[in-house]
Amino acid sequence: MTVQPLARPGPCAADWHWQLRHRIRSVAQLVARFPALGASAAGIAAAADKFPLAITPYYAGLIRRPDDADPLFRLAVPQAAEIAEHTFQSLDPMDEGTHTPVPGLIRRYGDRALLLVSSTCATYCRHCDRKRIAGQHEGALTPAQFRRAVDWIARHEEIHDVILSGGDPLTLGDAALRTMLAALRAIPHVEIIRIHSRTPVTLPQRITPGLARMLRRFQPLWINSQFNHPRELTPAACAALARLADAGCPLGNQAVLLRGVNDSADVLEELFRGLVRNRVRPYYLFQCELVRGVEHFRVPTARGLAIMAELRRRLSNLALPIYVLDTPGAGKIPLTPGTILAASARRLKLRGPNGQSAVYPEPR
Ligand SMILES: *Cc1c(COP(=O)(O)O)cnc(C)c1O
Ligand code: SF4
Repeated sequence: MTVQPLARPGPCAADWHWQLRHRIRSVAQLVARFPALGASAAGIAAAADKFPLAITPYYAGLIRRPDDADPLFRLAVPQAAEIAEHTFQSLDPMDEGTHTPVPGLIRRYGDRALLLVSSTCATYCRHCDRKRIAGQHEGALTPAQFRRAVDWIARHEEIHDVILSGGDPLTLGDAALRTMLAALRAIPHVEIIRIHSRTPVTLPQRITPGLARMLRRFQPLWINSQFNHPRELTPAACAALARLADAGCPLGNQAVLLRGVNDSADVLEELFRGLVRNRVRPYYLFQCELVRGVEHFRVPTARGLAIMAELRRRLSNLALPIYVLDTPGAGKIPLTPGTILAASARRLKLRGPNGQSAVYPEPR
């Protein structure tokens, strides 16, 4: 009897390489997927010309309606509004370029350094604050550039926390990541490594058991993702988060407050509850920056503060991120509704989340 060799599983939607290769990358592919967009193709093309377009088949499958009333459509599909120019907007609002001692390394805080290890993302967010880097050409830090960055960190003993960012570091393969993580782990003063990746949202297939096994060897390794809407917490995304948490990675989420996507207490409550249920701590809620091409996403800070005040009434602190504005001169500044009504050397007068006041006598 002859034994049939086992058929090798072919490339398919469950494979992250397949997902990357089959991304929607052109307006023609977009219109083929969503024929209703034919009429607005010119505006989409003008925007995609300026800021790159890529959507994984997985993420495209989460879009329910091809118009910008659908929050996931808004997050991923270019819109003509992106090409409106506003004089106060910049491609590098945080002035990261001037905080770059060696190529690919940004240092804006004393004890932390951020490495732009890849300029590729699985899906390009329309609200991206690094539009000057993400997808302008799809590449990665070269081994020589990475070596220079690692040497710089090794010479700076005050750096205790290194963040792999981009672009999206998890668009790199396991071997390249392992090399980077091993080089950083070999530096004694690097206590914490973080990976900032949106792949749990747009390419959960990337979080393979093999990747999780590899990451486990480099603890303490924190992973921050960017879920912006509760519909992004699909069974596939939740399974990816579970794999990372089971590998010992503390998980965080850095959402962005975006008009027409999540600028409501109900949507954010559902998002933050869903994240905590999946062992993800909501870490930051970012106020939109003054980056070119995102004006249509900006929400007034008064509205952001009102939403946060409402969420504080509804949610445990475990589910509450810090609402923060990143500024070029002063770094990240928390935006918090005022709780201190009056302060003297004798006593502090406070206002609680539901409006009641409280008094705390100071020590003598
Ligand atoms: C935001 C940021 C960090 C990390 O800041 P945390 O508040 O510690 O999360 C580090 N480096 C740069 C350049 C940043 O923009
Ligand atoms: S994943 Fe991050 S870097 Fe990439 S497009 Fe989205 S916000 Fe920008």
